[in-house]
Amino acid sequence: MSSLTNEENTIILESIRNIPDFPKPGIMFKDISTLLGNPKAHNILMTHLENRYKSYNLDYIAGIDARGFIFGAVLADRLGIGFVPVRKKGKLPYTTVAEKYSLEYGFDEVEIHIDAFGDNGLNTEGNPSQVLLIDDLIATGGTAKAAASLIDKVGAHCVEACFILELGFLNGKEGIKAPVYSVLEID
Ligand code: AMP
Repeated sequence: MSSLTNEENTIILESIRNIPDFPKPGIMFKDISTLLGNPKAHNILMTHLENRYKSYNLDYIAGIDARGFIFGAVLADRLGIGFVPVRKKGKLPYTTVAEKYSLEYGFDEVEIHIDAFGDNGLNTEGNPSQVLLIDDLIATGGTAKAAASLIDKVGAHCVEACFILELGFLNGKEGIKAPVYSVLEID
């Protein structure tokens, strides 16, 4: 399995901008728009992910609303497989399956189309579709846990959950049943 060199690691990390107190006081927002705007960093990242996942025999990539769409769709195209958007409630037009998750105050909900990973979640060989879940960042893990549950709910299989950045001090990956891979971790 390929790993990033220290230099590549630094190029990606330094391409992500830190915005203090956004969207509210006390939050250090990790702004990946500067990574996307940096073709060298973006290419190193996507080539690393392509090399990691090309031998996984995946059927689909599921990207979490909204920044997971960007990395997920690029990776799906590189691997020659389908991309599925995991959307916030109320955006998808066909029959959906939904999962609620807790926020600091209240709750939110994500959903997917019921047939997003094939009828009953089965691939063309009649086996559970092998799905990689991807998002830009894992903090508490609530969003990713709900998204991974959705994949199971429709009969597919979440092979791994992948994040560009993990806020390790929040232990978000502990609530996720699938293996978790984070390109970069911040303590
Ligand atoms: P969580 O459910 O707590 O793991 O939050 C993950 C979701 O919120 C991801 O979709 C992230 O894009 C977003 N998010 C949470 N914290 C941050 C942060 N500090 N910087 C950027 N995005 C964040």
